Amino acid sequence: MDHFDDTAPLHLETLALREGQLRTDEGAHGEPIFTTSSYVFDSAAQAAARFSGDEPGNIYSRFTNPTVRSFEQRLAAMEGAERCVATASGMAAILSTVMALLEAGDEIISSRSVFGTTNVLFEKYLQKFGIKTTFVSLTDMGQWEAAITSKTKLLFLETPSNPLCEVANVVHLAELAHNHGALLVVDNCFCTPALQRPLEFGADIALHSATKFLDGQGRCIGGAVCGRNELMEEVFGFLRSAGPTMSPFNAWVFLKGLETLSLRMQAHSANALRLADWLEQHVAVEKVFYAGLPSHPQHLLAREQQSAFGGVLSFRVKGGREQAWGVIDDTRFLSITGNLGDAKTTITHPATTTHGRLSDEAKAEAGISENLIRVAVGLEHIDDIKADLARGLNKLI
Ligand SMILES: *Cc1c(COP(=O)(O)O)cnc(C)c1O
Repeated sequence: MDHFDDTAPLHLETLALREGQLRTDEGAHGEPIFTTSSYVFDSAAQAAARFSGDEPGNIYSRFTNPTVRSFEQRLAAMEGAERCVATASGMAAILSTVMALLEAGDEIISSRSVFGTTNVLFEKYLQKFGIKTTFVSLTDMGQWEAAITSKTKLLFLETPSNPLCEVANVVHLAELAHNHGALLVVDNCFCTPALQRPLEFGADIALHSATKFLDGQGRCIGGAVCGRNELMEEVFGFLRSAGPTMSPFNAWVFLKGLETLSLRMQAHSANALRLADWLEQHVAVEKVFYAGLPSHPQHLLAREQQSAFGGVLSFRVKGGREQAWGVIDDTRFLSITGNLGDAKTTITHPATTTHGRLSDEAKAEAGISENLIRVAVGLEHIDDIKADLARGLNKLI
């Protein structure tokens, strides 16, 4: 007879289906969507108690909504966080975090290899409110250490990075942050908790653009911030006052996305690894960037931090812009778009789209060359994806 420890915590796959499940008296098996802006009270006294905070409960959907709460509870459990706060977008998650936890005079150290709009938010907008950001190389610990000052309050990074798949050592960066009284925030968009849980490695906050893999089918914009109660209470407070909350309909779509997240991330990763292997052998390809390849400089670190390597890779073709565009234009079904994290494979020329705003100098520093192509590998049959790319690549031989 098999013996199971029924006090053991549930596994991520089970939490993804069961945590935060909403059951109403109607007995619906699917989660209901609470499309309501406000909530009614049994009496004037109850209304007063809710508003004063003496009685917990719903008041208004800018603060709380049962469908949104269900998504928050599920994602928090999957990230191993005490609490999750859902937001209207990934950018709203980042904005809410910095607005809640920082003030004028504080400083951020951010990896240079972050989502382009994150760069703009830090450099253009936070600057206006007296928060300075220093950008450093994701993988160069010396640069992070050198950038720390007595005003540093927050270290910010994405790992693996976009589009070159560099991997940061989260344990080392968490230690550095904590030794200086700062917080480490990891944008966990590329791996999702199905492959990587930054809080287990010492990060204080894991945040998301739910728009990408959490939804997984390109339907909705949303975001989330996960961490300990004391920090999330501040983030929630900002959200309640400023308003970039997640809609209940989007929360319901993301709940459904979480149910299949683990399966999808494994399938994305398996397809991406096979594509990376194949590209590495192709004579028209100069270099492949994917942490799953043994040739990747942080391959061993990625194996420690991640259970698989994710769906995004990039590669340089032999030649320049003309050759890269040729490969992209010769595909028949890959989607030419800047987005990623979709069941459908997407293909992007970073130098002229997602990273097009960077100066030539900044592009060179970040490795965004004209012959670089990014592929966010989807769930089509791997041989069809290869064939779609082979059409253009074979012309370069
Ligand atoms: C897309 C993305 C964001 C921004 O998310 P939105 O939902 O588009 O606001 C932030 N970080 C990363 C890594 C992303 O890919």
